[in-house]
Amino acid sequence: MYNVLLGIFGGIRRLRMAEGQKIGRAGAEVLRERARRFRRTRLLELKMIGKALASTQHPILVHIIPMRRCNLDCGYCNEYDDVSKPVPLQEMADRLSILAGMGTSIITISGGEPLMHPELEEIIRHIRKHKMIAGMITNGFLLSKDRIRTLNEAGLQHLQISIDNVTPDEVSKKSLKTLDSRLEWLSEFAVFQVNINSVLGSGVKNPQDALTIAHRAVELGFTSTVGIIHDHKGQLKALDPRQIAIFEEIMNLGKRSFSRFNDFQHNVARAKEHTWRCRSGSRYLYICEDGLVHWCSQQRGYPGIPLREYTDEMRHREYETKKFCAPRCTVSCVQQVAMLDNWRDPQNLKPMPKKRTPQAPAAPPELVQLG
Ligand code: SF4
Ligand code: SF4
Repeated sequence: MYNVLLGIFGGIRRLRMAEGQKIGRAGAEVLRERARRFRRTRLLELKMIGKALASTQHPILVHIIPMRRCNLDCGYCNEYDDVSKPVPLQEMADRLSILAGMGTSIITISGGEPLMHPELEEIIRHIRKHKMIAGMITNGFLLSKDRIRTLNEAGLQHLQISIDNVTPDEVSKKSLKTLDSRLEWLSEFAVFQVNINSVLGSGVKNPQDALTIAHRAVELGFTSTVGIIHDHKGQLKALDPRQIAIFEEIMNLGKRSFSRFNDFQHNVARAKEHTWRCRSGSRYLYICEDGLVHWCSQQRGYPGIPLREYTDEMRHREYETKKFCAPRCTVSCVQQVAMLDNWRDPQNLKPMPKKRTPQAPAAPPELVQLG
């Protein structure tokens, strides 16, 4: 979602890029195709905003997991395993049809590592066939020139890579050093929009790395965002003055970026509680590899209902349900979605009792790690 909104508010600069200013490494043909896809995507995004403002009855953004398995093992991550199998294509297609039937605007494929799914491009085609916007979050390690071309052909519109440091360490191998050649290929061949997310906060050894990564992203013609990692209890923890200065500098790199209209990230950086209405379970859905609906990646287990059984009534109830974890939440994509509704409809309902299933036998007892 951040990519999409960043796209809308940062669009003029990037349209000039796409239409020929030699930022990044793309040749004339890629630039032309990039401009075409950019315009089509922009139209869909504007339609998405209009539809979201006109009605609260449909999901705006859905994160869907085609594979929980990951090829890396980042020390802070609670969203992967190293054994699970890919969700079969037909099952993914059925889930996407249900989401399209609900009127969903954007699907972001996440993981685990989605590039490990052997039929990822077919999944993207299914998203586009239903006229939904297709995005993906990846660690980028499995990108090659050929894979970028197949992602182009499948119709991918947004891709985000999160880079944690300049050189790999014992916590994370997602470094600029290991990924830079893939970033250059993306700059040269990708016709979809690329965002590079860097991180600051607890456990990040060299905060200056985030700035180096952000500058490299801009140099290659990508957009750049910064996320804030907190301690293992998931609690808000203020950045120190040096980190705050770096954070503000990165936020200012894209002067038209959506963050200028939204004080959420600035509050997170300073560990201030935030007043907003989390519409997860309704305007935002997280669909795990087992096909269960959850509030978000960090509140897996609520409500834990199979997508096939998730009725319009349940979704509308979640729209009005107050989320106990909202004031200290750091999940930025859900906050961005909520901005379209924060001005309307107070939340007065309590959460539904969690449905227990073999895949999700127990709800997490409390707010878990946020990231
Ligand atoms: S690459 Fe992503 S999903 Fe995989 S372990 Fe690291 S943070 Fe988790
Ligand atoms: S952690 Fe954040 S996004 Fe998730 S349910 Fe709570 S408030 Fe919503």
